[in-house]
Amino acid sequence: MENTTVHRALVLLSGGLDSQLAICLLREQGVAVQAIGFESVFFSADRARAAAAHLGVPLVVEPFTRQIAAAVEHPRYGFGSAMNPCIDCHTAMLKCAGDGMARWGCDFLATGEVLDQRPMSQNRRRLLQVAEESGYGDRVVRPLSAQRLPETQPERDGWVDRSRLLDLQGRRRQAQFTLAERYGLKDVPTPAGGCVLTDPNFCGRVRDLRDHGCLTDGRVMRRLRWGRQFRLGPHAKLNIGRNEMENGKLMADCGADEYRMTSEGVFGPMAILSATANPDQVQEAAAFCAAHSDGRDQARVQIRVVRGPEDWLLDVTPARRDRIEQVRIT
Ligand code: SF4
Repeated sequence: MENTTVHRALVLLSGGLDSQLAICLLREQGVAVQAIGFESVFFSADRARAAAAHLGVPLVVEPFTRQIAAAVEHPRYGFGSAMNPCIDCHTAMLKCAGDGMARWGCDFLATGEVLDQRPMSQNRRRLLQVAEESGYGDRVVRPLSAQRLPETQPERDGWVDRSRLLDLQGRRRQAQFTLAERYGLKDVPTPAGGCVLTDPNFCGRVRDLRDHGCLTDGRVMRRLRWGRQFRLGPHAKLNIGRNEMENGKLMADCGADEYRMTSEGVFGPMAILSATANPDQVQEAAAFCAAHSDGRDQARVQIRVVRGPEDWLLDVTPARRDRIEQVRIT
């Protein structure tokens, strides 16, 4: 007798073209789809939200900062070209999705991964390993490359018709573009981007967090993208806003135990110094604040320091450029 039960896939949706195509391929053969996206301080789920809205699929967005921070801290399989622990990250995403399958009424997992699209993280060995280490190895379907990968349980049990899945392999994307046209995916996002861990310009900031045990400090992590950043000591990090928007964000985010600084009498940025800074570092932070104000060429600048209910003025010489460059986190 024909099995008419509709099975439900939990599809990892980054918002990129490949994960959208995985959804289209499954839906085309009658599989119900629930999408899952991930969000952390290193990447947002906005592309997933936009894609889910365009495709008309329900989406859950899972917070992922804790998991990705752990992967950055101890990447079992190392980093990609920057500070991106992609293999550990993929494993953790699959595990998180697999653990939630029952909660979201799903029977199996699917991803938009394409065999050999990325030489390090999407070769055959890695794809199988990541699925296996997530704990859901036999239930992870890759619709775009399924015919080049071992049969999985959903295919064996007829939940998914393997013959209607694809055999894509490699970096060429013409087949995906053709499919995008067929499915009416008009706003085709680029395959790269979104995760600052892949951005070489962010490596220094992420390495600094890692080296100073800050990957579990939500406050510091939240500010990763804000302002100029300086390491004045193992327990003293200084953020200086680069524009009005960053000044506002820093001001709103400053904890009662941290030092908030701005110049008096001359226009200048908002600066925040770690609560754990020592008095010398407070003094130096004020000199940095002065060096980023309109009083940078003056002999002395007054800096107002606020910490909780306390409020005082420091009279400082603006910091020298070479010292600033020496401790800048790039
Ligand atoms: S690029 Fe970033 S989000 Fe994507 S797998 Fe790698 S570490 Fe994870």
